[in-house]
Amino acid sequence: MVDFIAVINPATEALIKEIPIDDSAAVVEKVRQARIAQPKWAARSLTEKIEVIKTFKDLLIQQVDPLASIMTAETGKPISQSRNEIAATPPRIDFFIEQIEPVIAAQHLYQEPRNALPGTGQLEEIISYDPLGVIANISAWNYPYFVGTNVFIPALLTGNAVLYKPSEIATMTGLKITDLLHEAGVPEDIFVPVVGAGLTGAALLDQPIDGVFFTGSYETGKKIAIAAAPKLIKVQLELGGKDPAYVCDDVDAATAAASLADGAFYNNGQSCCAIERIYVHTDVYEPFLEAFLQTVKAFKLGKPTHPDTYLGPLSRKPQLAVLTQQVADAVEKGAKAHRGGQPVDRTGFYFAPMILTDVTHEMTVMKEESFGPVIGIQRVQDDDEAIALMNDTDYGLTAAVYASERERAVKILGKVSSGSAYWNCCDRVSPRLPWTGRNHSGIGSTLSKAGIRTFLQPRGWHLRKP
Ligand code: NAD
Repeated sequence: MVDFIAVINPATEALIKEIPIDDSAAVVEKVRQARIAQPKWAARSLTEKIEVIKTFKDLLIQQVDPLASIMTAETGKPISQSRNEIAATPPRIDFFIEQIEPVIAAQHLYQEPRNALPGTGQLEEIISYDPLGVIANISAWNYPYFVGTNVFIPALLTGNAVLYKPSEIATMTGLKITDLLHEAGVPEDIFVPVVGAGLTGAALLDQPIDGVFFTGSYETGKKIAIAAAPKLIKVQLELGGKDPAYVCDDVDAATAAASLADGAFYNNGQSCCAIERIYVHTDVYEPFLEAFLQTVKAFKLGKPTHPDTYLGPLSRKPQLAVLTQQVADAVEKGAKAHRGGQPVDRTGFYFAPMILTDVTHEMTVMKEESFGPVIGIQRVQDDDEAIALMNDTDYGLTAAVYASERERAVKILGKVSSGSAYWNCCDRVSPRLPWTGRNHSGIGSTLSKAGIRTFLQPRGWHLRKP
């Protein structure tokens, strides 16, 4: 019997489509075929691979609107934000295309005699780079284009075959991405979709793969690491966060509030790098809070298909209960609730945005990932208190400081454990910089040159002429 993924529209709760799930036998066969095909793909010239990826990029650019509609239908992401994500993907692809050649080029490090021409020395030491081989990319639903391309574009350019399991919440998008890659010229056995949820992901990990690149929650990341451990393969995990921001006493409160409200509530707070907790110096606390409340009040909640909507439904129904519980726990322990904070009485997985003050680290809302439109704002007396609270977490994805002086911000950020450090900005990703987490936020890096090299394994050559 074939099982199906039921794709539900989170705004209407209507069934959009049923998509057949790959059973274990199908997963076995897909990995087997990819294994056979991978050496031929790796042997193709870099120019050819780049051309194929450029074609994929062009197809994305031509189809922003229809692709955005699919993503909005299945995830509930507001249509303007879906368009933004797809339109911002090509510059990331360009970064990989620009950087690939020097990153994969062999390095001639040493030769004797020193003045000999390359390839003519008595002794030479060279590093070359081979693809990992066949890799699994198990992906999240919240930014399928960003987190997907961060992995599969450099993986393909470096000659790997990719078994791509999109999230069950973004399967239609994942299959559309697959179609576009194939249309662009990536062979069907080289970029291979694997359809299903957790059980299918686990079945994929049972196969003889050479690496797993995962984006998702800490809880699942742990399972991935455990499943991959006996294979001794490359494991890269991009996980969640409880990202803090600290607002110093010398900033313009309204500017900081506008930036941080967007950082907390963009994509309904369903971003790994969403601001999840804010510490405000007591000297600017009142004006900051007032400006923050006003900003959030202006966010339009509604149908995700409407161009003016800023807050759509949550993508997953169970998250409504998680957020309701976090808010209840905080209020019970003395927090003040400023707005909303409960499911909205209408069809769809809507949750009214919630701002909590008088919060403490005894409350789950300040310790566990919310992944929704809920934020705690805590008053602090000085920089040291802010640093201690920012570090009071199991996560370490990003941290932000809003301050007039760069020196002060850099000094504070240097004492906070995080993979990304922001001064007067937040919720920002750059293709030039590594996207990486500390502690429970993950292992390894995507983006930057490190995010290309991660799909390669080095080989050291010791060449001595007879
Ligand atoms: P999730 O952990 O529920 O699922 C992620 C993927 O893992 C899905 O494809 C799912 O089907 C698969 N999966 C589930 N159980 C599995 C198993 N036992 N074996 C193999 N695969 C399995 O996460 P999600 O809800 O899709 O995404 C939200 C989480 O992802 C948040 O914690 C968010 O912070 C994090 N995230 C992190 C980044 C980053 O770059 N650090 C980016 C986006 C999202």
